[in-house]
Amino acid sequence: MKAVRLESIENLFVREVAKPAPGPGDLLVRVEACGICGSDRHFLHGEFPTSPPVTLGHEFSGIVETVGAEVTGFRPGMRVTVDPNISCGRCPACQDGLVNHCRNWKALGLALDGGFAEYTVVPEGQAVELPLSLHPEHGAFCEPLACCLHAVDLAGIKAGDSVVVLGGGVIGLLTLQLARLAGATRVILSTRQAVRRELAMELGATDTVDPSAADPVQVIAGPDGLVPGGVDVVMECAGVPDTVRQSLKLAKRRGTVMIVGVMPQGQTIEIEPCDIMMRELRIQGSFINPFVHRRAAALITSGAIEVGRLVSQRIGLDQVPEVIGRDPLPGEVKVMVIP
Ligand code: NAP
Ligand code: ZN
Repeated sequence: MKAVRLESIENLFVREVAKPAPGPGDLLVRVEACGICGSDRHFLHGEFPTSPPVTLGHEFSGIVETVGAEVTGFRPGMRVTVDPNISCGRCPACQDGLVNHCRNWKALGLALDGGFAEYTVVPEGQAVELPLSLHPEHGAFCEPLACCLHAVDLAGIKAGDSVVVLGGGVIGLLTLQLARLAGATRVILSTRQAVRRELAMELGATDTVDPSAADPVQVIAGPDGLVPGGVDVVMECAGVPDTVRQSLKLAKRRGTVMIVGVMPQGQTIEIEPCDIMMRELRIQGSFINPFVHRRAAALITSGAIEVGRLVSQRIGLDQVPEVIGRDPLPGEVKVMVIP
């Protein structure tokens, strides 16, 4: 079968490999769809530790082909989505229930073979059933949606809240929908590309802002802004220094800033502690997606979260190295790989 293999840093190739065999507790899954994530670019360039040689792809769903002898919850023919993050269950973090901080964390598509392949092996405990009636591509959004769900849960968005989402990529566009579902009555999305701002309005944003046209802090939180004095919750989903700086100015007194975007390790920005103290800001990070995959699957299956319109391009396995190897094109949102 074909698989997209990271053989070493900067070396990603489509290879012919043996079809994997499931262990006693595993499912063999025929991959129907696997999304390309910005992290895949970080893995290619060695900006995040991986274990090459390995098959990339951590946002996937597919059909169970065969099951190991000890599997009880799945049978061939079922559709599944996959939580790629595997925790050990034994370390202090796992014992505290903080499985996303597991000392022995391993992920499919990063340390273990993932979903940019015709088939892949998934431990039973990582799979969540999806209905066969669901569009196959939609199941591949469960993993990124689960990241956003964890962030929105931690932010504690409440009915009637005002929210700013910074960054209109897949994560921002999913987060804005979750903020609306959580009851936020004002959800403002800031992103530079007009096509994304238009999409955001169609997906439930109440307002959009172009940060390249005017300072979003003034446009949103200034005296004549959309929400003078700032918003209850800022979801930083761009991962650049500008938006992190903006987020601290956009939150109102006692407001929350949730850092979702990934900046390179070691990169720093200046903050004004006195301002954080006097305005009683809460600044929190959100890392991956513990214990939220079933809810993410329910949100997608029910149609409560729109994901189909986020697919901007469909490609086969052969094109994956080229697409991961270049920067995203203008207008590109989610590139979906159909093996
Ligand atoms: P993405 O497509 O790169 O989205 C980020 C978007 O932010 C960019 O496409 C860009 O869109 C926008 N942006 C860049 N500079 C901006 C600025 N100055 N002001 C406003 N918007 C700006 O990536 P994504 O997949 O949506 O992911 C978003 C971030 O979340 C990434 O950093 C990713 O690594 C991270 N992430 C974190 C987790 C977690 O667990 N914490 C999980 C998944 C992803 P425009 O060109 O329209 O401005
Ligand atoms: Zn652990």
